[in-house]
Amino acid sequence: MLSYEDARLKVIEVTAGLRRIPAREKLRLRHSLGRILAQEIVADRDCPPFDRATRDGFAVRAADCREAGAQLRVIGEIRAGAEFAKAVGAGVCMHIMTGAATPRGADAVVMIEHTRAGARENEVTIECVAEAGMNIAPRGSESRAGDILLRAKTRIGYAEIAIAAQAGCAELDVYRKPCVAILSTGDELVAVDAQPGPFEIRNSNGVSLAAQVELAGAEAVLLGNAPDREDELQKMIERGLKEDVLVLSGGVSMGKYDLVEEVLRGLGAEFFFDALAIRPGRPAVFGICRDKPVFGLPGNPVSTMVTFELLAVPAVDILSGGDARPLPLLKAKLSKGIEQKAALTHFLPAVVEWPNGEAIVTESPWHGSGDIAALARGNCFLVVHQSKLKLASGEWVDVLPRRGLL
Ligand code: AMP
Ligand code: MG
Repeated sequence: MLSYEDARLKVIEVTAGLRRIPAREKLRLRHSLGRILAQEIVADRDCPPFDRATRDGFAVRAADCREAGAQLRVIGEIRAGAEFAKAVGAGVCMHIMTGAATPRGADAVVMIEHTRAGARENEVTIECVAEAGMNIAPRGSESRAGDILLRAKTRIGYAEIAIAAQAGCAELDVYRKPCVAILSTGDELVAVDAQPGPFEIRNSNGVSLAAQVELAGAEAVLLGNAPDREDELQKMIERGLKEDVLVLSGGVSMGKYDLVEEVLRGLGAEFFFDALAIRPGRPAVFGICRDKPVFGLPGNPVSTMVTFELLAVPAVDILSGGDARPLPLLKAKLSKGIEQKAALTHFLPAVVEWPNGEAIVTESPWHGSGDIAALARGNCFLVVHQSKLKLASGEWVDVLPRRGLL
């Protein structure tokens, strides 16, 4: 059976192979968070644009301060943003603020903390040795006019927004978010705001998948629920195939009414896998149908969530115009030993905490892949790899944080 790592590689290879370049749109910088850049960001000027003081203090000539205790006459002050005309000659200095341009003649800035008022008015005592270049960021030391600051296909986070702002880009050319159709299946499901009959349950996968789609940076298109009947299922799948990706939940196991694969096959789907060596989530299906990636995720809510994170997120990344992000695993120390029997990679609901600065993970008590309550009591999945099913207390293990929580 396919490992989840190989399954992800398959999803990435197949989705990238579609060579779909998303449409572009212009967005205000402020609204571009999480998008993928469709343009380069080029520096319009040197940064810093002038030799910039990085501390509040005094602009001096290092030659005047070779020893601690130099007495200098203060000939003026320079505020951030202000023009200045005077030059600093021998034996004098200027009071300067962080972010101001250092005056001609000065080659160092001494922090105010290393000075004290001098013997006379307008005099300052420099209590340290000044080295040339001290506390000055030279013009162009961060970037030069014409430098590429961000390449196309970069994901926009807050630092990327800041650098675009620095370069004067009030609007960005970004890729449109892909639209992910979400279709739950199951005769037992009713809408969240409906009162379930005694043997019915509320459809939680529709909304949890929509949340995961949005956390992955895409647009969720909720199609509702399809009953376990071929004709209706087919109609709703065909509707879903109009979007960029189709994600189904339920109907991919061995039950008599698990019809998803069959209906997709009838619509000409090509499948790349329909089982993975993981628990929960073993019967996950991935294929291409009418040129669109389709994920048939098992319906048990925790399985749906795990398989979406493992399989669908990389496809969404690629269809967003970027590269597939790696699975953001972190390492934590196991608080209590664990042994799993089944030769599969297990994703167990768990809590990761940092009681003394070190990550400690504890498996949550749970009753299998239908137990959303257990998952909601924690904040991550503890990963027990197929290659090492027995883990001792205190061992470092992989943890998959729940996206958006950690
Ligand atoms: P299935 O994968 O269709 O065999 O469903 C497996 C289990 O998950 C069954 O107990 C279903 O009732 C439950 N289930 C399926 N779809 C959903 C859903 N959308 N919301 C909540 N539970 C579901
Ligand atoms: Mg079902």
